[in-house]
Formats: sequence, structure tokens, C-alpha cells
Amino acid sequence: MTIFSRIIAGEIPCYKVAEDDRFFAFLDINPVNWGHTLVVPKEETDYIFDLDDKSLGDMMVFAKKVASAMKKTLPCRKIGVAVLGLEVPHAHIHLVPIQNEGDMDFRNKIANPDPEKMKEIAAGIAANL
Ligand code: 5GP
Repeated sequence: MTIFSRIIAGEIPCYKVAEDDRFFAFLDINPVNWGHTLVVPKEETDYIFDLDDKSLGDMMVFAKKVASAMKKTLPCRKIGVAVLGLEVPHAHIHLVPIQNEGDMDFRNKIANPDPEKMKEIAAGIAANL
């Protein structure tokens, strides 16, 4: 079971943003910018491009809804989209509110983000879905 499956199952806490029957979204615990959200399929697949076409398409549509709520909630020009998958072997899309290129520098994460602020951001995004 991946760490993301354990989060989805509620075994590990997270700042949840959105959920439907097949997908789940929550804040990245080490955000590159405030509001950095991960969108994951409930089905465990490591590499995103191993998902079947329908799952991949539906995942992007789910991410679109989350991104739209993020844009309403957080000050940003756009929601940046990235797929890395180098650390956690469970397909996921990174959604990051951005003002400029530097806001998506994955080498430069916010250390020890304030839990209250994270909680507020997750609730804010969820309220705008
Ligand atoms: P990637 O696999 O795309 O290279 O990176 C995995 C991402 O998941 C990282 O940005 C990391 O901060 C995030 N991450 C890893 N473990 C956890 C966790 O237990 N909870 C949350 N919310 N995020 C995590």
C-alpha cells in the first residue's frame, strides 16, 4: 500500500481538498508554494502514463475542477501543472498556484508550513469547489 493509499484510507492525516469515487486531492505536505495540491487516483498505479486512457482523462478533468477552486481561493496568475513521481510510486498531478516560474521550483519547498495556514487553505479551496 502506498503512502497516498494510506492517506486516502484515512490512516494518515492530510489536508483534504476534494474527493469523488475515483480521485482524491489534498495539500502537499512540503509545498513549493501555498496551496500546492496533489491529485491522485484511488486506484494504485505508479506511473501516470500507465493509467488507461479513460482514467487519465477523468483524472485531468477532476484536476481541472480542483484548479478552478484553487484559482478562486488563492492569489495567483495561473495554476501550474506538473507530474514528477520520483518520490511516491502512486500516480499524482501537482497543482501549484503561480505568479512566476520560480513558484514551481521543486528544489525550493516551504519548510515546516504552518498547520493552521494549511488547514485554512484546504478548507478555502474545498469551499470554492
Ligand atoms: P513526486 O513523487 O512527485 O516526486 O513527489 C511526491 C510529493 O508528495 C512531494 O512533493 C512530497 O512533498 C509529497 N508527499 C510525500 N509524502 C507525503 C505525505 O505523507 N503527505 C503529503 N500531503 N504529501 C506528501
